[in-house]
Amino acid sequence: MNKRDYYEILGVSKDASTDEIKKTYRKLALKYHPDKNKSPDSEDKFKELSEAYAVLSDAQKRQQYDRFGHAGIDSRYTTEDIFRGVNFNEVFRDIGFGFGGIGDLFEHLFGGFGRQRGGPQRGADLQYDVELTLEDVAKGVNKKFQIYRTEQCNVCHGSGAKPGTDVNSCPDCRGSGEVQYVQSAGFTRIIRVETCRRCRGRGEVVQTPCTECKGSGLTKRMHTIKVDIPPGVDTGSSLRLAGEGEAGPNGSSSGDLFVVIHVKPHRYFVRDDNNLIYEQKISFVQAALGTEVEVPGLEEKLKLNVPSGIQSGTIMRLRNKGIPHLRRYGRGDELVQIIVETPSKLNKRQRELFEELAKASGEKIPKKKGLFR
Ligand SMILES: [Zn+2]
Ligand SMILES: [Zn+2]
Repeated sequence: MNKRDYYEILGVSKDASTDEIKKTYRKLALKYHPDKNKSPDSEDKFKELSEAYAVLSDAQKRQQYDRFGHAGIDSRYTTEDIFRGVNFNEVFRDIGFGFGGIGDLFEHLFGGFGRQRGGPQRGADLQYDVELTLEDVAKGVNKKFQIYRTEQCNVCHGSGAKPGTDVNSCPDCRGSGEVQYVQSAGFTRIIRVETCRRCRGRGEVVQTPCTECKGSGLTKRMHTIKVDIPPGVDTGSSLRLAGEGEAGPNGSSSGDLFVVIHVKPHRYFVRDDNNLIYEQKISFVQAALGTEVEVPGLEEKLKLNVPSGIQSGTIMRLRNKGIPHLRRYGRGDELVQIIVETPSKLNKRQRELFEELAKASGEKIPKKKGLFR
């Protein structure tokens, strides 16, 4: 599915202020709110708008999106993460219809992410830092590394019960792990679902705890992770491996593992976005007459035709010899900055030739020799 650009969805420019984004979102959200707008695509439209707002109203997510596009968001955040922390009530605070239950509306639209607080806990996220060379970045690379993380106990398989002993269904929640509370307030009936305290959401009560994990169902272990890093990443890029973090307590879902990229400095190149900058020194004579030089490229050596009369500091562009764009077609350029070196020492013959050159150009030759001799 091709996702539309968030700025385009809201119809704001890339440098729009947070305030402008909020105002625009509010206006459009009121127009497409499914309670108000009965056209069949209003719900999708509302979802799209709300997601765009959730990302662009958060400085960190917006920056991630600006740099890496949808890939930067999708690789790092779940739908739940995207909406976590966005205060929609605040946006619609002063609107007089149906927005009191905006949280319920979002829960309905996006599938229960608001229930996290009361529901079973989740394992912690982990971070692993990976160092890459520019060559790795150019080609993409498969990395294998080990992390020490919490996993399900392999003696009791996460049940927490000593193998062969009984595990009974929890009498408080009848095995569901959740207890419902009903509250009435006027015409509204609020059903609150909370994790069962007795079994802590597991739905089961252990008679004899597993000796290996002391009943927790969890244990620490080394685990090998293999990850395909796509070409074009940069320092600070991160890849999210869903469910590869710490195992959660009471059989709840595992956290995520974030692989954070660090790109090592290169001996030839300086990276500027997806361009590579290289400095090539040429002699005074080469600059005057033109020359062909060989410059390093990321994958192979490259030939560069330097035209006669080039000035020091000129930047020459080798198209498509830079770093591939992340998750989209094409790549940057290699930019070669030409540095013309004036000879600092001349032998007798060279000096004669330069003097002749000066004569031919009608220039005066100083009587005194150079300052450095
Ligand atoms: Zn165990
Ligand atoms: Zn229970």
